[in-house]
Amino acid sequence: MNRARLLVFNAALGVLDYRVPEGMAIEPGSVVVAPLGPRQIVGVVWDAERLPTKEVPDSKLRPLIEVLPVPPLPAPLRRLIEWAADYYVAPLSSVARMALGSSAALRGGGTTTEYRLTGEEPKRMTPQRAAAMDALHGEQATIRELAEIASVSEGVLRGMVGAGLLEPVVVDIDRPYPRARADFAAPRLSEDQQAAADIFVAAVEAKKFAPFLLDGVTGSGKTEVYFEGVAAALAEGRQVLVLLPEIALTENFLRRFEARFGVTPVLWHSSLKASERRRAWRAIVSGDAQVVVGARSALFMPYARLGLIVVDEAHETSFKQDDGVRYNARDVAVIRARFEGIPVILASATPALESMHLADTGVYQRIALPDRFGGARLPDISVVDLREEQPERGRWLAPRLVEELKARLERGEQSLLFLNRRGYAPLTLCRHCGYRFQCPNCTAWLVEHRLSRRLACHHCGHEVPVPEACPECGTPDCLVACGPGVERIADEVAELLPGARVALVTSDTLNSPEKIGEFVAAAENRLIDVIVGTQLVTKGYHFPELTLVGVVDADLGLEGGDLRAAERTYQQVAQVAGRAGRGEKPGEVLIQTRHPTAPVIDALAKGDRDAFYAAETEARRDAGAPPFGRWAAIIVSSEDEAEARDAARAIGGTAPNLPDVLILGPAPAPMALLRGRYRYRLLINARRSAEVQKIVREWLGRFDFPQGVRVNVDIDPYSFV
Ligand code: ADP
Ligand code: ZN
Repeated sequence: MNRARLLVFNAALGVLDYRVPEGMAIEPGSVVVAPLGPRQIVGVVWDAERLPTKEVPDSKLRPLIEVLPVPPLPAPLRRLIEWAADYYVAPLSSVARMALGSSAALRGGGTTTEYRLTGEEPKRMTPQRAAAMDALHGEQATIRELAEIASVSEGVLRGMVGAGLLEPVVVDIDRPYPRARADFAAPRLSEDQQAAADIFVAAVEAKKFAPFLLDGVTGSGKTEVYFEGVAAALAEGRQVLVLLPEIALTENFLRRFEARFGVTPVLWHSSLKASERRRAWRAIVSGDAQVVVGARSALFMPYARLGLIVVDEAHETSFKQDDGVRYNARDVAVIRARFEGIPVILASATPALESMHLADTGVYQRIALPDRFGGARLPDISVVDLREEQPERGRWLAPRLVEELKARLERGEQSLLFLNRRGYAPLTLCRHCGYRFQCPNCTAWLVEHRLSRRLACHHCGHEVPVPEACPECGTPDCLVACGPGVERIADEVAELLPGARVALVTSDTLNSPEKIGEFVAAAENRLIDVIVGTQLVTKGYHFPELTLVGVVDADLGLEGGDLRAAERTYQQVAQVAGRAGRGEKPGEVLIQTRHPTAPVIDALAKGDRDAFYAAETEARRDAGAPPFGRWAAIIVSSEDEAEARDAARAIGGTAPNLPDVLILGPAPAPMALLRGRYRYRLLINARRSAEVQKIVREWLGRFDFPQGVRVNVDIDPYSFV
């Protein structure tokens, strides 16, 4: 090959051809450096026939500069990248970029220098040094990362190096990870579990595409069972990817993995340190990383020998990425397994309706675990009708729930209260003039956080201190908090149950692996009586002494125009209910609601999962919604309101008129302003037979909008704001 077609990581440049100099060996997938004007760029050699572009004559081609010392991206991964770009209507280069997680890693292994405290006491202590010494305890990272951790300037830290307070440590990027052992501590499985495990083991050994839905009730031992599939892959020398919906769940997972396989797996997520990122990426590419646990971004990595993919809590909506390339990691995982020719396991106690449908129609093989492990029973669920059983004035917990909390406290058992709302109160207003605190950048109220004494926007991060007086009318001490967040519920519990040890679990309080570890240990050692938490505590945890779950407001998720609201409510409540009674003592769940007859609440109360899925399936069929029809969204935004509106209207005005495609909008988005951008939405509802992507690409391809306008396509959207 003396010509090379490169995919470069800049959508505007697209595809570029180069000459391959004498003596340079490349193949499709090779990662190379090429000249571009006076600059050098990185690109991936692509199969030329799959990337048509204008032919440039040989004489005009510039030569490639070098091949980077990493293995070529394998063909199955290149096919996956093409598939994802096509399906999600995203630039190929943006998808491909996700495979090259770390640009430093492309340059090879070698060493890097990190710093840590020496333990010396400073001769000259400044406030900044004191803060840094406190914050950097137990940390080791580059100066830049340490500066971030300690919130001091890099200059302060360099000074500390000079004064002998920080010392350099040379880190070998390619030092191997400790080996996991397939047979380290194999559990004794129940009969059901063993039958399921046998199927996974056989599938891993068969090395063929096989999609599974591991549909097991909460506490059935899904993790133990898919670990047998992991063990089989380890025994075969193949790599495993386990996708978890959020980093908060990894701590728990790491410990269970270590207990089963003797070492912790390799982690991949967005907040890794630079050296960890380099090390993990290189080990993934070389095959040294046996098992990788990560958030959705781990999905596009160039694994050398992938043998199994597991998507745990596969129903979670956080697998859907809502910026950049808007893909659903659960769905892409199945496609990747197909290209790789390997099994994939989607594990959940509350599978997405789409996954259920694929299992019902035989596309996925359903592996059911209908019973909890060790004879534990599923909890009893009852409904508290808030219209009849009213909480006291200014409180949020109904008398019955309070009684049950007290009973648990007396018996030394644990309780969990779930409310999916961070902070103290979702709305703050002035009693005097009615002024409401709103985010200047978003269509959203500012949420009061009493722990940090701030009003914060949960969409853009805008924050202000809680003022003494109303900014509108100037009246002092006139602000009232409206509605509850978890902080307020925790306060209420502390007042109602003096002496109870209350743990508040939200992303504000549990924001590091250490804190999550401390929480889990405290809960397991029964140092906590009542856990008050957001969706962070709804899944993954196993606290045997937890016997009561209270859902503070089951109606919260049903409000608003979300097309998956019922399903999401069902999943969240069923998951959090699944935390109760996992040990020997039976569990009880109380659901507070104002709509006790809503089908989803009724199904939850009766524990009738099939009824819920059947009703929701029919509703979706009637609406032509997934899995029976397709949805796609077009989101038009600009910092300039008129520009956004004009662009949206122009798009709406040329909407194709097709028999099996319905186009709604444009209309201002529910979040008409988000992070300072004005937003309009169009929603496409099409028959399954319609080629939505092709239609959208041709439709939008005709436009040339001003610089400031962004047009995003969201295929199979989960967010409708
Ligand atoms: P799920 O993910 O289905 O909710 P888990 O995998 O968390 O269930 O299992 C629930 C609990 O039961 C965990 O503490 C797990 O270690 C334990 N468990 C499940 N199966 C077994 C087994 N075969 N032997 C020992 N403990 C088990
Ligand atoms: Zn905001």
